[in-house]
Amino acid sequence: KKRIGVLTSGGDAQGMNAAVRAVVRMALARNCQAYLIHEGYQGLVDGGDKIKNASWNDVKGFLTLGGTLIGTARCAEFREPKGRRIAAKHLVKNGIDALVVIGGDGSLTGADTLRKEWPDHIKQLLADGDITQGEASKYQTLMIVGIVGSIDNDLASTDMTIGSSSALARICESVDAIQSTATSHKRAFVVEVMGRHCGWLALNAAICTGADYVFIPESPPEEEDWETTMCDSLKRSRSAGKRTSLIIVAEGAIDAKTNPIRTEYIKEILATRLGYDTRVTILGHVQRGGAPTSMDRYLGTLQGAEAVEAILRATPDTPSPVIGMLEHKITTQPLKEAIELTKEVAKAIEDHNFSRAAQLRPKS
Ligand code: ADP
Repeated sequence: KKRIGVLTSGGDAQGMNAAVRAVVRMALARNCQAYLIHEGYQGLVDGGDKIKNASWNDVKGFLTLGGTLIGTARCAEFREPKGRRIAAKHLVKNGIDALVVIGGDGSLTGADTLRKEWPDHIKQLLADGDITQGEASKYQTLMIVGIVGSIDNDLASTDMTIGSSSALARICESVDAIQSTATSHKRAFVVEVMGRHCGWLALNAAICTGADYVFIPESPPEEEDWETTMCDSLKRSRSAGKRTSLIIVAEGAIDAKTNPIRTEYIKEILATRLGYDTRVTILGHVQRGGAPTSMDRYLGTLQGAEAVEAILRATPDTPSPVIGMLEHKITTQPLKEAIELTKEVAKAIEDHNFSRAAQLRPKS
């Protein structure tokens, strides 16, 4: 009988609760035991009442709520081997032999490291008298499965991460609200959206709100004088009858010299060169909040269920998988490769090798 723990780590994302619920209930349905680990890796390091046996009703009401009800944290101790060894001890002491980690690329990198180091931790814990010989023999391997929860949609192995659909929906609602006041006053709005080094949210928000201009890290403006190109384009729209101007800026947007493109700078350009009454809105944490969209509930549920299936299918030699979705199909791929691919994409963007970045990303 497998004992499966689940935790959420790193930045919260809508739909994480749906995934937690699915892991617990699928585990129980498949005759396994389920454990909720509270406060991400911090809960693993702290142990005690942060690790709790979970029943069907413990995840009641999870499906429709945003954030993560079992808490998340950034845990410095887990970045060090010593912290991960303590985490390993708590897993063994609770009898947990499989772990589902729901988080972004940092959390999944940590998960992969814990799996890799596991035999060394077990040896050391035994040598230090922290675990018994019986426990050391029983817990020779730890199965880890990753599920990507991140509003940024920045993992290369999946078309959509859990939370990205809700964050996009929230951006669209907010921009729609801004647009009504913008139209009334003939204002220009420069709206900054999240996404770290990934422009997915900004680009899709621009498409879905009919923005006039968008700045994303993956495609910096090429012209030396992009400000004039932008102004000319906005002027054309206004002379064609548009009462507003909307510019979406990804928080990681850069120019051709990799300098950040700041919302305040764009505002200044619009105000001085075009004389537009311009306001800046930085949407901030509202993007992470609120109820998950149906897409995130669906993704969380299917991926949580698939995570349990992946655990039950695995042999001790199976590489840790990450659950994703490619071309609308739930996928299981090696976690290590997914993280490496994500890092390669990030590096290609950093190097301004955008065609390589596009090549590396999955088709979607
Ligand atoms: P996200 O998972 O959203 O990318 P972070 O990068 O903040 O968020 O990572 C969340 C947590 O995962 C960190 O606080 C740390 O405990 C763990 N973590 C991140 N990167 C590593 C790493 N390279 N090695 C071990 N643990 C890590």
